[in-house]
Amino acid sequence: MAFSETMDYAYFEGNFVPFKDANISIGTHALHYGTGAFAGIRGYLDGNGETINIFRLREHAARLLRSAKLLRMELPHDVDSVVETVLELTRRNAPTSDVYYRPLVYKSSVQLTPRLKGIDDELAIYMMPMGDYLDTQRGQRVIVSSWTRITDNIIPARGKITGGYINSSLAKDEAEEKGADEAIMLDVNGKVSEGTGCNLFIVRDGVLVTAPITGDILEGITRRSILQIAADLGIPTEQRSIDRSELYLADEAFFCGTGVQVAWIETIDGRTIGTGTQPELVEQIRTILFDTFRGRSDRYAEWITPLKLARPVAAG
Ligand code: PMP
Repeated sequence: MAFSETMDYAYFEGNFVPFKDANISIGTHALHYGTGAFAGIRGYLDGNGETINIFRLREHAARLLRSAKLLRMELPHDVDSVVETVLELTRRNAPTSDVYYRPLVYKSSVQLTPRLKGIDDELAIYMMPMGDYLDTQRGQRVIVSSWTRITDNIIPARGKITGGYINSSLAKDEAEEKGADEAIMLDVNGKVSEGTGCNLFIVRDGVLVTAPITGDILEGITRRSILQIAADLGIPTEQRSIDRSELYLADEAFFCGTGVQVAWIETIDGRTIGTGTQPELVEQIRTILFDTFRGRSDRYAEWITPLKLARPVAAG
C-alpha cells in the first residue's frame, strides 16, 4: 500500500497548523464512541505537473456535510467553505505528487455520554502523497466475508461514519488472514452490498450491475461517475439487489472508489471470474476516468477542480 508521510500542514480547529501540532484530547467524544465522519478525496497531478486536479471535490464536501447531518453536527461550514479550505491547504502544502485528502468531522467535546446532540463539533483536514491503494496492475483475490454489512437501522452505511468502519475492519482482516486482498460484504438479507472501502460492480450479459443506494452501501462518488460514463457509452446499467451466486457467474467484477480507483477482480471465494484476465469493460471505464483525472480529456471536465500550484512540480 503506497502510503507515505503526511504532508506538512493540516487544518485543525479553524487554523492551518503544522500536522504534528494537530492533536486532540484523549477524552474526545469521537475517540470513545466513533462519532465522527470522514471523506477521502484524490488530487492528481495534471500532465504538466503544475496543476492538481481534485476529483469531484464539491460532491465529496457535500457528502461529508450530509454525514455530519446524520450525526446532528453543527459546523460553521457549507460546501463552499469546505472546498475553499481544501484548496487553501493544497496551496500551503504545494504537493509534488498525487495526493489524498482526509477531511474529518468529529464530536470534539470531552463528554462521557454516548449521544449526538449538544456536543461540540470540529472539522479537520490533512493530506498525504498517495499512489495505488490496491495493486491494480493485477486482479484482486476476494472473499465473501462472514461479517454482515451494517444496516441502516444500526449504523447508516450511507454516512461515512468513523464508528461504522469497525465493520469494514473486521471484514478486511478476515480477507487478509485468508490470503485475499479484499472482502465483499453481504447485507442483513444476504444480498451483496460492497467492499470494505469500495463499491462493487458486476457485468452479466453486457449489463453493468451494482447494488442500489438502499442496499446498505456508501453512496459512492466513483460509483455514480461510472454509472454516468456507462450511460454515455450506451452500456446498460442496473441498480438492483445482487445475489451471492451472481458474483460467481459474473463475466466481470470490479471494485471502485476514491482509494481503490478501479480494481478488477480475478477470483471470489477461489472461483475465477470470467476469463480470469483483465476484462474489457472495466479497462474502458478506467481509461476514461484516468484521462479525466490527469486532464487528458475534458469530456468530464466539470468533475475536476484544477488548482494551479505556485511552483512547478515534477509529474508523477
Ligand atoms: N464504500 C465504502 C465503504 C467506502 O469507504 C468508500 C470509499 N469512500 C466507497 C464505497 C467508495 O466511495 P467513493 O467513490 O465516494 O470514494
